[in-house]
Amino acid sequence: MNEQQNKYHPNQSGYFGEFGGAFIPEMLHANVENLRSRYEEIIKEESFQKEYNALLKDYVGRPTPLYFAKRLSEEIGAQIYLKREDLCHTGAHKVNNTIGQILLAQRLGKTRIIAETGAGQHGVATATVCALMGLECIVYMGEVDIARQAPNVQRMKMLGATVRPALSGSKTLKDATNEAIRDWIDNPEDTHYIIGSVVGPHPYPDMVARFQAIISEEMKWQLKEKTGKENPDYIVACVGGGSNAAGAFYHYLNDEDVQLVLVEAAGEGVDSGKSAATSILGSQGVIHGSMTLLMQDEYGQIVEPHSISAGLDYPGIGPLHAHLIKSKRASVYAATDAEAIQSAFHITKIEGIIPALETAHAFAILPKMNLKSEDVVIVNLSGRGDKDLNTYMQFQPNNKTDE
Ligand SMILES: *Cc1c(COP(=O)(O)O)cnc(C)c1O
Repeated sequence: MNEQQNKYHPNQSGYFGEFGGAFIPEMLHANVENLRSRYEEIIKEESFQKEYNALLKDYVGRPTPLYFAKRLSEEIGAQIYLKREDLCHTGAHKVNNTIGQILLAQRLGKTRIIAETGAGQHGVATATVCALMGLECIVYMGEVDIARQAPNVQRMKMLGATVRPALSGSKTLKDATNEAIRDWIDNPEDTHYIIGSVVGPHPYPDMVARFQAIISEEMKWQLKEKTGKENPDYIVACVGGGSNAAGAFYHYLNDEDVQLVLVEAAGEGVDSGKSAATSILGSQGVIHGSMTLLMQDEYGQIVEPHSISAGLDYPGIGPLHAHLIKSKRASVYAATDAEAIQSAFHITKIEGIIPALETAHAFAILPKMNLKSEDVVIVNLSGRGDKDLNTYMQFQPNNKTDE
């Protein structure tokens, strides 16, 4: 690759521009270095690619459709396509990554898998692939999240995983992440840590992006089949850590005619003090092993984020996205809790698709984009809303049965 093509890919040390790298305790060095020195070569092996692609096809259900949303298009006044990651096995894009990482872990000779989870979606996707491969699985989850996300905790247990509560700090995702890191330090030989987004020390952001890149790989030929052109005018994706967005953008990063749009969770409002709009409110710093944008106070302490959607409730953002934002390759919008809820009900009503609460944030900003009727827009429909029914029911405008 020449320098131009390389602009949005990490250098040898895992830096995307000024973001990324590997800021880790000395005791993790051997694990991370082992992964870093071998992942590229393993992923490129023919036997790996064959097994990965076969599982994506027959187990995950890929390719996921690219669906022209006719009624939504008419309403917004643009050509809107939905990339249906909600139809993946386990209900979201997260399984693309856990399939890739479990195959990698096997080739590294690992027999024990650990993961962190917030809402439980990544925990379920990890427990699923561990069941598939017959590997031991331990999922760290904040005690508060365990209480709020009971159905996913039950799913993980049914899949054979051990769910270990994180009891420190706010007892949520970042505390679960700290516990998982501690476990990895204690078990360097047999354990692989499956991180659930494009965050963490190098090589995770790059590795996870490559496993999610299947999304944009499919988008290119699917859009060409439907419109004669590979490139849309816009790709819109919600961003927590940034893995579904990274996957949807990956093969378009160097196609500068395609505008990349990230949608963050504004929570109760960007300036309300209860928000998760990381790139808007954040500044440069180190979180969970990489230099990126994060929400922090003047002393560098992490500010607790807030979003109604657990998948977007993270105080950082992957280093690739920090770089895309800083270099103005991507633009950022934010949608509030209320806007996301309203948009979820509306999309359900006009398209017959109940989106995940995370994805509802992406839909919510479409009316604000000033789109033209000929604009082709792909929205990455990152997951389905079954997991969010409890939340949706609290807002159901017509919550009664017709006798
Ligand atoms: C976890 C999750 C997200 C947020 O994670 P990213 O890494 O930013 O993609 C978005 N949508 C759904 C459906 C999720 O489960």
